[in-house]
Amino acid sequence: MKVPRREFLKHTASLAAISSLPAGVGTSAAGAAAAATQAYPYLGRTEDYSEFEIIEPGLTITKVESWTQGQYGFIRLTTQDGREGWGQLSTFEPDITATVLHRQVARHVLGSDPARIDALVDRVIDANMKYPWSYVCRALAGVDTAIWDLYGKIKGKPVCALVGGKPDPFPVYGSSMRRDIAPEDEAARLAKLRDERGFRAFKVRLGVPTGHDRDAAPGRTEKIVPAVRKAVGEGIRLLADGNSCYTPPRAIEVGRRMEDHNYFWFEEPCPYWELEWTAEVAAALGMNVAGGEQDNDLAQWRRMIRMNAVDILQPDLCYIGGFTRAWRVAKMGQKAGKLVVPHSSHLSLVTLFSLHFMAAIPNAGPVVEFSIEEDANAGERLYSPALVVSDGKVNIPDGPGWGVKINPAWIEKAEYKKSERETKR
Ligand SMILES: [Mg+2]
Repeated sequence: MKVPRREFLKHTASLAAISSLPAGVGTSAAGAAAAATQAYPYLGRTEDYSEFEIIEPGLTITKVESWTQGQYGFIRLTTQDGREGWGQLSTFEPDITATVLHRQVARHVLGSDPARIDALVDRVIDANMKYPWSYVCRALAGVDTAIWDLYGKIKGKPVCALVGGKPDPFPVYGSSMRRDIAPEDEAARLAKLRDERGFRAFKVRLGVPTGHDRDAAPGRTEKIVPAVRKAVGEGIRLLADGNSCYTPPRAIEVGRRMEDHNYFWFEEPCPYWELEWTAEVAAALGMNVAGGEQDNDLAQWRRMIRMNAVDILQPDLCYIGGFTRAWRVAKMGQKAGKLVVPHSSHLSLVTLFSLHFMAAIPNAGPVVEFSIEEDANAGERLYSPALVVSDGKVNIPDGPGWGVKINPAWIEKAEYKKSERETKR
């Protein structure tokens, strides 16, 4: 862990607070599975993991519905007494994800008691052992986040408050997605956003995704690192993302350049599956290495943390299969003294989920990722109220559940699918 200790403590509760789980989190991990878990921590549980017990048992999920359009997909779960919860399938290829939801996931959800969310998400993973991770987790994210919305609506609280957090304004970093922009233009764009919306942190892109040490334009990396620092000034936190571009020697070279200009983290410097490469870079650099957005296997997360491949953990709440599974990553990270900053690179509900998550976990990093790119389909077109950056922070909606409503006009035009309990196979 390379985050300076003072910085870590600033963003974490005291050890006493950390050891006493937030209100609403169950303290008993009953049953044979839990006993086995203590000896052989399963699917990302820490030895002292307590399964969630947010609501009383007794409900049954009877309907799973999905709506997909463009790059987005939402789901609604309904219980036998007509209660509802809304969640989001992971973005990108949501029609494929919805097919996986209805063909391979819904049958393990229909007839289940939503009170037992840890058991439910594990059952989906266990049952899909031949189809690990990716699309199963993308579909499971919809189910999990809809159950958390249901919990919030039953309890009359925002999700973050169910697990000990408060819906206070949270700082965000302006996340650039562009490599087709000249260093001086990117520097000017970020300085303008600093002035207009009060961002106090930004992330830029380096190299080319899985680019085998290539750069997007000749010398771009060498130019953009100092240019952005010069434009925004020393008081702004700067981050940079390699998107799996580099071999360790080149990553270390680029990282040293970032260190010269006081960057806070170097994200995904090497192909993310080459854990040993990333660990080599993390060991060589004094700055933080961040990563994990693609990683949705919780045993792999345990290995990454144990080998110190990354200093800052970046689970994506939708890629990984939802709030519950990301919570387990946070718990593993907390034990290892590592901060968490989820990957949330677009303004769909994943950024909202991340805000609630960060408001609740004790080892939250200083900022939540917030895309600065225009996306005509995101933001208020998808749901309301939209997330707005003011003074570098975003208000976390304080209504029950996730605190937003999916736009009915968007739903009307989306492709609809449904699975009901009587169709259970
Ligand atoms: Mg990234």
